[in-house]
Amino acid sequence: MIVVDGDGLRSDPGRPLLHADDLGVLHGDGVFETMLVRDGRARLVRRHLARLVDGAARLDLPEPDVERIARAVETAQDAWSGTGDGALRIVYTRGRESDPGSPTWFVTVSPVPERAAIARRDGVTVLLLTRAQDPDAVAPWELAGAKALSYARNTAALRHARAQGFDDAIYLSSTGTVLESPRANVVALFDGVLTATPAADGILAGTTQEALYAAADRAGVPTREARMTPEDLRGADGVWLLSSLTLAARVRRMGDFVLAETPNRAGLVPKLVTEAITRP
Ligand code: PLP
Repeated sequence: MIVVDGDGLRSDPGRPLLHADDLGVLHGDGVFETMLVRDGRARLVRRHLARLVDGAARLDLPEPDVERIARAVETAQDAWSGTGDGALRIVYTRGRESDPGSPTWFVTVSPVPERAAIARRDGVTVLLLTRAQDPDAVAPWELAGAKALSYARNTAALRHARAQGFDDAIYLSSTGTVLESPRANVVALFDGVLTATPAADGILAGTTQEALYAAADRAGVPTREARMTPEDLRGADGVWLLSSLTLAARVRRMGDFVLAETPNRAGLVPKLVTEAITRP
């Protein structure tokens, strides 16, 4: 693992970085970003830094020093000597309980988990989980739109899905509309139109989806944000989970329902995502 500390310096990964009263640990009070390092270069850095700033504002955290963090990202990416893909994390917490106003931050790079490459290659099965979230009444204090460090609910949902024999999950709102996976956004293709859940419904605005939509615009593929139901997904020409490390994983099965693969469409989303993350 590579670690770059809040002074922008490489740090021994065996050396502790946090104090016992860091609010990131005590309350999960902070935000983070995870981005892909491929061929020695961190991908979609600008989009991730913009979301870090947006997330910090949502949590009323001190504004991140983007220039310094961007330099630390470069230091970390340059130090990543692994031959495979790397997972670069920026962690930004409210800092110590005993020292208000001084955020803690650091950057790490570690190998991308194998399951990401498998999901990209083989697709995934997903369990539908209903969340008590009304898409017409999203409370700002729920922080649904921030990539908050308090992630235990997401990992619990994934453990639950795995225990039932599924690779991943898709949350549905209390009104039965599709929200997101605990670690990815959902995009579906209907008659050539890429469709994603509106960000205002209380999901994380994904950098991968944003980049996919930009690539689709360049390629002349129409895109939209619209509410979808599981019934809609069952009739789609393809459904994908999108995230920074996995990129695009086709949803093969949703609960008991095997999703059809429309052969001439199946490659479209992975191709556009790859193109999007390959741009300089
Ligand atoms: N939604 C949730 C809840 C996530 O945790 C993530 C990524 O971890 C995403 C969506 C996808 O975001 P991105 O494409 O920026 O990785």
